[in-house]
Amino acid sequence: MTNKKYVFSFEEGDSSDKKLLGGKGANLCGMTQIGLPVPPGFVITSEACLAYLKRRDKGLQKEVVDQVQEEMKALEKKTGKGFGDPRNPLLVSVRSGAAMSMPGMMDTILNLGLNDSTIKGIIKNTKNERFAYDLYRRLIQLFGSIALGLGDEVFDDAFEEVKKANNASADIGLDGGAMKEVCERFLAIVEKESGKPFPQDPYVQLYLAVEAVFASWMGKRAVDYRKEFNITPDMADGTAVNICTMVFGNMGEDCATGVAFTRDPASGENRLYGEYMVNAQGEDVVAGIRTPSPIMQLRRQMPEVYRQLETLRRTLENHYREVQDFEFTIEREKLYCLQTRNAKMNAAAFIKSSIDMVNEGLISEEKGLLRIQPDMLAQLLHPRLDPNYAAESLAKGLPASPGAASGKVVFDADRAETKSKIGEKVILVREETKPDDIHGFFAAQGVLTSRGGKTSHAAVVARSMGRPCVSGCEQIAIDTAAREAVIGGVVLREGDMITIDGTTGNVYQGKIPAIEPEFVDDLLMILEWADDIAKIKVMANADTPESVAKARKYGAVGIGLCRTERMFNQPERLPIVQEMILSESLEERESALERLLPFQRDDFKEIFKIMEGYPITVRLLDPPIHEFLPSADELVREIVHLRELRKTVQGMANLPDTLKLINPELHDRYSANLEVITHALDELKNQHLAETMIEAKESMLQKVRALAETNPMLGHRGVRLGITYPEIYAMQIRAILEAAAEYLAEGGQVSPEIMIPQVCTLEELKWVHRYVKKIHKEVEKKFGIAVPFRFGTMVEVVRACMRAGRIAELAEFISFGTNDLTQATFSFSREDAENKFLPLYQERGILQHNPFEVLDIKGVGRLMMITIEWARKTRPDMKFGICGEHGGHPDAIRFCHHIDMNYVSCSPPRVPIARLAAAHAKLKEKEFVFI
Ligand code: PEP
Ligand code: MG
Repeated sequence: MTNKKYVFSFEEGDSSDKKLLGGKGANLCGMTQIGLPVPPGFVITSEACLAYLKRRDKGLQKEVVDQVQEEMKALEKKTGKGFGDPRNPLLVSVRSGAAMSMPGMMDTILNLGLNDSTIKGIIKNTKNERFAYDLYRRLIQLFGSIALGLGDEVFDDAFEEVKKANNASADIGLDGGAMKEVCERFLAIVEKESGKPFPQDPYVQLYLAVEAVFASWMGKRAVDYRKEFNITPDMADGTAVNICTMVFGNMGEDCATGVAFTRDPASGENRLYGEYMVNAQGEDVVAGIRTPSPIMQLRRQMPEVYRQLETLRRTLENHYREVQDFEFTIEREKLYCLQTRNAKMNAAAFIKSSIDMVNEGLISEEKGLLRIQPDMLAQLLHPRLDPNYAAESLAKGLPASPGAASGKVVFDADRAETKSKIGEKVILVREETKPDDIHGFFAAQGVLTSRGGKTSHAAVVARSMGRPCVSGCEQIAIDTAAREAVIGGVVLREGDMITIDGTTGNVYQGKIPAIEPEFVDDLLMILEWADDIAKIKVMANADTPESVAKARKYGAVGIGLCRTERMFNQPERLPIVQEMILSESLEERESALERLLPFQRDDFKEIFKIMEGYPITVRLLDPPIHEFLPSADELVREIVHLRELRKTVQGMANLPDTLKLINPELHDRYSANLEVITHALDELKNQHLAETMIEAKESMLQKVRALAETNPMLGHRGVRLGITYPEIYAMQIRAILEAAAEYLAEGGQVSPEIMIPQVCTLEELKWVHRYVKKIHKEVEKKFGIAVPFRFGTMVEVVRACMRAGRIAELAEFISFGTNDLTQATFSFSREDAENKFLPLYQERGILQHNPFEVLDIKGVGRLMMITIEWARKTRPDMKFGICGEHGGHPDAIRFCHHIDMNYVSCSPPRVPIARLAAAHAKLKEKEFVFI
């Protein structure tokens, strides 16, 4: 017999122990302890949940039952009511609450303690039969669906029937008699569907409810959610259960229930934001059954309660120093707070509230940065609807989660999932959403609901995911069974394209063009704070002046990877590149390279200008050169076509003579026209079908075949090309140094870095370094100016890691190309791995992540650490960076900071994310554990 404590009253629970008490439970304890108006209650710990799940078929453990009973007695004392006492019945709610907030994931049952006899007490004490039966029907349905696993539909259908029979459009239109009928029907449903009558013993109700909440931790919805958001057992293990005395928002017109945020979760503005519903219970607001009223209305309707709410808002923020999302109930004009949690908001709101809270002295700049998840910033860097595009909206709902999205209409979550799996973009259109729809949210571009407010399930979940959402769009009539929706006269069928704008609430037919987002001042300020704190610098991977300009705008302090081959791909350059590749002699190749040089030089100069003085790391040609030529298959097809066409044209040339032979009269009639045609065909043949041209294609085909490799990514590429065709590297080195010299001569500042790819031994570097030295001398002489530069290498080959000490003798900097280094470390080819076996590996847990997306710290990371350690033994001031795709990911950035790298380099749109992640890495450096 252990003495383990599984149950804590709100007065005694340790509000800092979210792991044990769950977020909701810990906060209920915290709020109670600072004197906020929380109805009395207690928490059953997540440890009790885990213990239950281990021996589920045996029911709740005896210690838990005993401790719950003890606390129920205490509740009876505190409230002066009795659980199951028909004279003055105590009713309670049972709510789940894990350490991590998982909105809508777990279940809640209200009004436990009601039965056929205690309901009489409620009627007597409140003199309100409707109210009592309203509570009872809610309990029976919630209990039936959650604890007994019956579907909601049977209840919903019966409820609709009674509403119809009473000509009521909403529950509020039903009187006591009708509600009683609903209860009777519901009780019959429970008995019929579950095979047992609805439990009348309040304690049986309570224990079954607790068990159901515990069990829901392992339900599909909760498991999927944890998987999607990477919630591991060390973050949340099991759910706690909160038992709380019921207070009633549905006792009459002086009662209400609502959900509010201490600041506006869409904009971050410092004002009370929320919705409420008079004469309703909490679930009505969240489920979006009726559309609630904006909180400002309460100011007029119940001014005193509104003042209490304002006080509550301030107290909550002063205590938690974070924006709160809280639920409240007003019972006979008295305010109760039923739960609070850190608000889920979009990125714009986090940014604005961070700046405001720092200015208000509520939090420090560091906290202001840490509360914004770097990846969230992507939301601000997404396109929005083009304001200049004149489009008439079909309907307008509530702007529930900002951003715009276009996609094909689907009416259920399963359909959304299947469609998105085949690459279609969809908008999930529902009357209202429920937790069961969660997979539809993941799959959809956006969500549109015809019912529910800004705090409905759809709105809350969409906001937390950064998905656009329009809710409560009442002009839309949805017929899910027929798979269509009608807005005004327009019928939308499944598969029709629509656009929703979660910033304005507008819904449009068809696809509306979107535009690039603006970089707002608030974001700039946050990123400036981040830069002041971060140690690791953020550069960008960019290869054209346009993308370099974007990178600069996003705050990159240099270019960590300029892939020169991408500069070859423009229409006026590619033919010269091809000519260079097809050259039969050095002279021919040099002539083509000479024509390419000005293009590269001009681009580099432009890039130097844009990045004025910041380092520009230019990587010399890397991919196998056959990539610049058409494929052999393509060429064979072209050659066959050209030959056939040539034959046809030749045949046409014989036409006048043949015609003359068989019908001179016809020939005379058409001879003038035929002459024009044959002349034109002759021209075509000479200009486009000359034998020499076809031969040129054939020789290109030969070259392509000659260049073909069994495994090109491990073949003739990178520095290997530079050594076999030194003139190519020579041209590129000259272009870089001449551009630098020209810009220096104009008074600019430059800091070029020449980077050699795919190096595996110092000897390779030495070869290239020789040309660099020679060309550098020539350029300095030609321009009469000293040109500073650095010489370095990429590390993307395992041998280079192992020989880092030697390579550092010549390389002044090293940039980890983790794309190739990951392939090399795993010996996986990325394309084959991702197409063939990686998804299964992840599904089976053989690999936790796709290593091409999430840096494999244990393997690739370990190699990076060794490289740095050995290279710095040779060259203590060696500069290190990362330029593989991982360079823009917060976890990888944290690791790079930990191993003392100097910079990360990522694509321009990820630069803001990386800047914030770099600050996080510094602020959280003490917590980093390398496993
Ligand atoms: C790398 O390998 O990580 C890299 C940046 O080079 P690329 O992706 O161009 O091969
Ligand atoms: Mg590479």
